[in-house]
Amino acid sequence: MQSLHRQAIALISDHADPAADIGLEEAGGQNVYVRHVGENLATLGWQVDMFTRKVHPEDDDIVQHSPHCRTIRLKAGAETYIPRDRLFEQMPEFVKSFQSFQSSEGVHYPLIHTNYWLSAWVGLELQKTSAVQLLHTYHSLGAVKYQSGQSRPASADLRLQIEREILERANCIVATSPQEAQTLRSHVSTYGRIEMIPCGTDTSNFRLMSKTDARNLLKLDQHEQIILYVGRFDPRKGIETLVRAFALLKQQGQQNIKLVIVGGSSPQMPDGEERVRIAEIVNELGLNLEVIFAGQIGHDILPFYYTAADVCVIPSHYEPFGLVAIEAMACGTPVVASDVGGLKFTIIPEQTGLLVPPQDVVAFANAIHRILFDELWARKMRKQASANVNQRFTWGGVAIQLSELYRHVLAQSIMHEQPHNLRTPDSRNIPKSVIYQRTLQSATKV
Ligand code: UDP
Repeated sequence: MQSLHRQAIALISDHADPAADIGLEEAGGQNVYVRHVGENLATLGWQVDMFTRKVHPEDDDIVQHSPHCRTIRLKAGAETYIPRDRLFEQMPEFVKSFQSFQSSEGVHYPLIHTNYWLSAWVGLELQKTSAVQLLHTYHSLGAVKYQSGQSRPASADLRLQIEREILERANCIVATSPQEAQTLRSHVSTYGRIEMIPCGTDTSNFRLMSKTDARNLLKLDQHEQIILYVGRFDPRKGIETLVRAFALLKQQGQQNIKLVIVGGSSPQMPDGEERVRIAEIVNELGLNLEVIFAGQIGHDILPFYYTAADVCVIPSHYEPFGLVAIEAMACGTPVVASDVGGLKFTIIPEQTGLLVPPQDVVAFANAIHRILFDELWARKMRKQASANVNQRFTWGGVAIQLSELYRHVLAQSIMHEQPHNLRTPDSRNIPKSVIYQRTLQSATKV
């Protein structure tokens, strides 16, 4: 339902459908982010339209989430799954479909918040032909991804160019952690405005519950120590490090432990290859009976997995934010994570979890061991972890900060209205390196 009294804004999320079942196919943090940000912004008075590419012919073109928040699935290429690395070709049609939708609805979005580099390209194209205020969230950075030795797809150079262009030409970048903001400065560009607003979690869903009940529900042994991984199967997620750390703990004589791995899809999907590789390592290490592959789990059941676990491990090589960390902590589960990116921001070492060097099998094994075998400390961390998330990372709080930023950007655009055709493509008359940090205590200025 559109409203005449509300300001309409567009969130663009090319591949990550906010209406998709989380845990399906490639669905991950970006789907969760866009959906929750959209819904919470609508409660603050905006009309929020979230645009994504239509992937299945049987999917509805429009999904109404609440009276003023909806997902709109646009035609952009064949209505079938296309891996992100080959999606760029469909983006010109995405732009056309977006423009047709605007005309048919008689609406103009003065503010567009894009997500991921493909959507950034869409935003930059729209900015060329109409007066829009452009905000962007990266979710993942080619500049970091290609550095970590992952193979470079044909679209790599274009991605790097768009990631730089959006930082320099958007009205504002929304970095989700101070670490991500710093990475943008050091790896992408020193120009452009960045504001740090974190991700959040649904604290009414991810909350403190009874571990005994959770284990009963999931049919997990009450007496075993459970180590949990939740996330996509992607080499960047470092699941191999966790499996090897688990094997080390077994070798050291820890018999009463289980590793539960949540996530992953079918072998035909892009993450299928990594899923098969990890299963092979588990097999080689003789851990088939101790490692449980739980498959994809929706957010309705996931809180029980976090609650049932004694420790949640996030062994990522890089993580701009890492929603899993705050979901686990919200459920009172301490986290052992790589000392990288947003994980350094969300986890408070020794209070809500431990940070260790990425890919360091021994360090992961030691940190997991410390948490599993100090019951008193683990109990204290449970309370601190959930308090940390409730104070700093709720979607409601995130939406308030975004809403304030949107209003500021829109107000500035009215004050500094400039004929659109006066803007040169390479103009760098943007204030250098401005980062505002309004509400969070532990932010760094970049
Ligand atoms: N997720 C899920 N079910 C699964 C695996 C993952 O719901 O089986 C969700 C998880 O709860 C989190 C998101 O996917 O909300 C992953 O976000 P994160 O930022 O940790 O990683 P990303 O996918 O963005 O790399």
